[in-house]
Amino acid sequence: MTVSVRNAVSVCRRIRVRGQVQGVGFRPFVYRLAQELNLAGWVRNDGEGVDIEAQGAADAIEALIVRLETEAPPLASVTSVETTEAPTSNARGFEIKVSRHGTANTAVTPDTATCPDCLAELFDPANRRWRHAFINCTHCGPRYTLTRRLPYDRPHTSMAAFAMCPACRREYDDPNDRRFHAQPNACPVCGPQLSLRDKAADPIAETLARLQRGEIVAVKGLGGYHLACDAGNAEAVARLRERKNREEKPFAVMFANAASVVQFAEMDDAERALLESRERPVVLLQKREGCDAALPGIAPGLAELGAMLPCTPIQFLLFHEAAGRPAGTDWIAVPQRLTLVMTSANPGGEPIVREDDEALARLNGIADAWLMHDREIVTRVDDSVVRANQFIRRARGFTPQPIKLPKPGPSILATGGFLKNTICLTRGDEAFLSQHIGDLDNAPTCRALEETAQRMMELLEIEPEVVAHDLHPDFHGTRFAADFARGRGLKTVAVQHHHAHIAAVAAEHGATGPLLGLALDGVGMGTDKGIWGGELLQVDNERFDRLGHLRELPLPGGDKAAREPWRMAAAALFALGRGGEIKERFPQQRAAGAIAMMLGGSAHTPPTSSCGRLFDAAAGLAGLCEVAAYEGQAAMRYESQSAQHGEVEALRDGFVLGADGTLDLLPLLARLADERDAGLAAALFHATFASALAAWLERAAQECGIRRVALGGGCFLNRILSAGVRRRLEAKGFEVLEARLAPPNDGGLSLGQAWIAMQGV
Ligand code: ZN
Ligand code: ZN
Ligand code: FE
Repeated sequence: MTVSVRNAVSVCRRIRVRGQVQGVGFRPFVYRLAQELNLAGWVRNDGEGVDIEAQGAADAIEALIVRLETEAPPLASVTSVETTEAPTSNARGFEIKVSRHGTANTAVTPDTATCPDCLAELFDPANRRWRHAFINCTHCGPRYTLTRRLPYDRPHTSMAAFAMCPACRREYDDPNDRRFHAQPNACPVCGPQLSLRDKAADPIAETLARLQRGEIVAVKGLGGYHLACDAGNAEAVARLRERKNREEKPFAVMFANAASVVQFAEMDDAERALLESRERPVVLLQKREGCDAALPGIAPGLAELGAMLPCTPIQFLLFHEAAGRPAGTDWIAVPQRLTLVMTSANPGGEPIVREDDEALARLNGIADAWLMHDREIVTRVDDSVVRANQFIRRARGFTPQPIKLPKPGPSILATGGFLKNTICLTRGDEAFLSQHIGDLDNAPTCRALEETAQRMMELLEIEPEVVAHDLHPDFHGTRFAADFARGRGLKTVAVQHHHAHIAAVAAEHGATGPLLGLALDGVGMGTDKGIWGGELLQVDNERFDRLGHLRELPLPGGDKAAREPWRMAAAALFALGRGGEIKERFPQQRAAGAIAMMLGGSAHTPPTSSCGRLFDAAAGLAGLCEVAAYEGQAAMRYESQSAQHGEVEALRDGFVLGADGTLDLLPLLARLADERDAGLAAALFHATFASALAAWLERAAQECGIRRVALGGGCFLNRILSAGVRRRLEAKGFEVLEARLAPPNDGGLSLGQAWIAMQGV
């Protein structure tokens, strides 16, 4: 028998690729590789990812397998490639087969910034998509925000309303084209249309002209409307604050490029890479001197500036217009003067405006003009906000990217907390943390929670088996969880707030087994129904013990104290036996006398171990922020003061470790009450608090023998505190876990709830 050499080396393999491999140009990529490597066979999408059969020379198949991972398209992320042998056949040529519609067990990709190839076309006057506000390709553009359900095909997106013209169709059908199966593919002939209300020949030019005149324009973005104005125009910024009823909360600013940011803020390589990343989050950067003068009223009293770069073609076109509408892309790297406030259009703390009618109605009286278009936003998603190593808000660009859990389990729906609410759904060992939903203090945000849960369950095809919620009976998330579970006969699990904070950090680090948890936070309900918030826990998967907590301070006037730091300063004075000073120290506060009286009694002053309120007390004693304009303002300004002052030695006798496990910082507060230099006071507070926390953890570790600690809770957004605690703990030999993939604040709570519920069943 004679066997030709060619046949002898011909093998056939079935290859299974998993990960984020659909809707990202993976099949044409495989097709091109197969052609280049002279392989026969086919590629298709199915419920588990991408399925390939390839036949040809053994070394060519080997090369294919390697290159599937090493050369994957920009938006793909391959988690595994498995190969099995398959019988050889007479197959010739390589084809892309139609999707096999099974369970849509694959990822929906996040929305991403316009890619360099598309930008080159966008600014090429000879290109048919010159200045086309909806340019996109397989490597960029909207995804999650316009997808209704899987599989990810055009009829299942808000592009269904637009029929492709012959030229777009050709690109869409050509495996060698960058737009092969780019579902939102469009051009000026067949795509969505931009319009400026009311009427303008050139909506981009007119929008820019209005912005430059100081007007406020509502601009439709990927996941909702922004309110934009000239960030360098003090009057425009002040007008926006007044109309939006947002006194001091910082605004994010959009710059043309990183080179334009440099004069306003410091930026290292990692921060620059984040700014320029395809996720295009708002990045918090250290302000430079002169920033506040150049960008008046943008981030008053704070050390950081929230900066972002253009993400959508519309945003790029505004800067292109300001640059004088140059041809080519060279201008994109050149510093530009135009800076734009780009703040979520979410009047009254309600969810970001998504629909056009809603924008016209709800932004009436706020916006002077509306830059709109007729491509529907299906899912509402705010901008993400990050620091180099931390999420502050995880949303556009990142959702619905899953976070890997340490092990698989039943599907969970977790409904999160009250402030900065998110929900979480799990499938196997993947946790899908939703985009930021908001504070559940208004009916529209409560509805948005339910909508988000519904939409994500549909989109990800998840049927929850267990529902987790906060321990607090009155949160909307708790009521929704109960209703949802009752309707389907599911089990519910109530999770303590700070346990959830620690579990969220443990989950993302794959840390199972016992660990210490330091939860420094605003407030959350404790198992004793108390107002917790500065907790030292021992967490053993779904169980926890409260080893100790910050010494409690009275909370004069309940919730109001969270808004008025001077009340916490009064509480501290009272606790120091100096209640008599309250009235004279806070002459501006009409309620000072009443509060002093109230503290002397026992009504309306529940005790709290909240770390957030401890910060308020310290900041209030420094006279820094007697009444806060937004949640967390006092602590943020206090941190900025400390940063400006520079590092100091911790006070040796600033704290007491109580025999009952408490950490008592009254000695430190006593010192601060007499310190007139606010900067020094803030620096002393941060240094002493961090060293006290490290001593507290050290004592606990000696008792329980655990030297792994997870840091959770919103107070860890304070960089001086988190860096100080980490450094001191590591010096004592602790392994320190921090929130990296989810925010440490209540935005990460649902992840922890889900992980606890999964382990408890
Ligand atoms: Zn592109
Ligand atoms: Zn077209
Ligand atoms: Fe919290």
